[in-house]
Amino acid sequence: MKKAVFPGSFDPFTNGHHSIIERAIPIFDEIIIGIGNNSKKKYLFPLENRIKALEVLYQKQPKVKVQAYEGLTVNFCKSIEANYIVRGLRTAADFEYERTIAQMNNALVPQLETIFFLSHPNLSALSSTVVRDIYVNGGDVKQFLPEGYPIL
Ligand code: ADP
Repeated sequence: MKKAVFPGSFDPFTNGHHSIIERAIPIFDEIIIGIGNNSKKKYLFPLENRIKALEVLYQKQPKVKVQAYEGLTVNFCKSIEANYIVRGLRTAADFEYERTIAQMNNALVPQLETIFFLSHPNLSALSSTVVRDIYVNGGDVKQFLPEGYPIL
């Protein structure tokens, strides 16, 4: 069984994340959206809201589940017996950052493979950070969020 974790903060989950999930669905048997929770980090949207919103968004997609976790992503993957980590790449900067993490994760748990999806060109400028900035300054962020993602 091919079980993957798509880890991130998803604060909020955007069309960019949604596109990665849609493309990963035909490849894996199960995809866990792992919401990494760092108690020292401040988030805009409370963890409970992010979990609920994703459960609603993927309620009709049995392959996709949502779980929060603390600590190392590799330990979370081991605890749920997932062998794959899914990540998205938008830019060369993403690549350099992701390369280090993937190689370190692979050193920690050699059977864990990270699978990268290149962002679609029309989504490569989209990030949760920019969406948060627009949102806190009163802008309309609906077009950047998946339809049926009820976080606002
Ligand atoms: P983190 O908190 O680890 O930075 P994010 O929640 O921002 O994670 O994103 C999780 C994953 O989704 C990362 O691999 C990131 O590169 C990817 N991602 C974010 N936005 C996009 C996008 N617009 N297109 C493709 N991948 C994306």
